Amino acid sequence: MQASVDNQLKVLRLAELDLQTAALNQKTRTLPEAIAHHEFTLEFEKYRDLRIAAETELSDLSGEINRAESDVEQVAKRIEKDEARLNAGQGTPKELEQTQHELISLNARRAELEEVELEVMVRAEGIKDRIKELSASEAEFISKLEAAAVARDAALVVINNDLKLIADERAELFPTIDKALTDLYEKFGAAKLKNGQCTGCNLAINAGDLSKLNALPAEEVARCEECRRILVRA
Ligand SMILES: [Zn+2]
Repeated sequence: MQASVDNQLKVLRLAELDLQTAALNQKTRTLPEAIAHHEFTLEFEKYRDLRIAAETELSDLSGEINRAESDVEQVAKRIEKDEARLNAGQGTPKELEQTQHELISLNARRAELEEVELEVMVRAEGIKDRIKELSASEAEFISKLEAAAVARDAALVVINNDLKLIADERAELFPTIDKALTDLYEKFGAAKLKNGQCTGCNLAINAGDLSKLNALPAEEVARCEECRRILVRA
């Protein structure tokens, strides 16, 4: 195939632009700011889920505390009633003795219930402390992920701007090259012959092939024997 030297140089430029595009796309996928943002998001979600679970646990415990309080209250009322009856000396001696017995067991019951209530309250305090710690970690990772998002978006603006410049240059360049040559390029790509090497596959070309390549007329489109790329002698 024949192509003007100018066209061959243009196809080489096309290859450079496509390499730059691929590199920028790869950069977008592996942007440290984007990876950091993703990691901070996972951390934030972990602490948020733990905090929500702790809040559910606390709300269940509040129900337990309320029940324990009302149990204690009920027993306290019965104790009050019995004490009033004893103080008033109402009833037969046998009835008064029964009331005294009842008071002893009621007081024991109250102590028991108060202990249960106290234990639940201590547990609730522990959960409240845990919620505070989890909320602090949550807030820490929210601010980290927000900062990472800002950094990521700033980096993307630069990359996308470069991508657009390259796309514009390519769109302008492409129609100025012979169709046969761009068809060949789209299939196999293009590379420069530099220091006896194909810069596409980076393989050294043996001395015999190299002298044949150099002997070809400038308008003859050369190809790399290894990777089949268009080999531009420039
Ligand atoms: Zn090659």
